[in-house]
Amino acid sequence: MWLVTLVRALFDGLRRRCPRCHRGRMFEKFFTMRTHCPICGNQFERSGGEVSGGMAVNIVATLFIIIVSGVIVGRSTSIPLLPALLVLGVVAIMFPIMFYPISRGLWAGILFLTGNNDEADDVYRR
Ligand SMILES: [Zn+2]
Repeated sequence: MWLVTLVRALFDGLRRRCPRCHRGRMFEKFFTMRTHCPICGNQFERSGGEVSGGMAVNIVATLFIIIVSGVIVGRSTSIPLLPALLVLGVVAIMFPIMFYPISRGLWAGILFLTGNNDEADDVYRR
C-alpha cells in the first residue's frame, strides 16, 4: 500500500497536481506555484525556503542527463564533438528551465509523503 501511495504522490508531482486529492493544480501559471491546493487546501510547501528542495531535484535531474549524454557522446566515435557539445550546452540551459515546475511538483509530492508540508515553521525555534 505504501508503494502505491509513493508512486501516486510522485506521479501527481510530475503532473503538477495535488498529492492529497489528485485534482488540484499546483501552478497558476508556468512558473507561479500556489501555496495551497484550490480544492482540498493541502499546503504544497511549508515556507518560501522549500523552493530549494525543488531546485535540488532540478539540479540532480539536469546533472544526470548531462553526465549520461556526455558519456554517450564521449564513447561514440561517430558523433561530431563540436555540434554535440553545442547541443549539450543548449540542453544544460533549457532543461532546468522547462523542468522547473515538474521539479517543484516532485518536491511537493515528497513533502506530502514525509508529512513535512504540515509542520509549523516555528517547530525548531523552541
Ligand atoms: Zn488537493
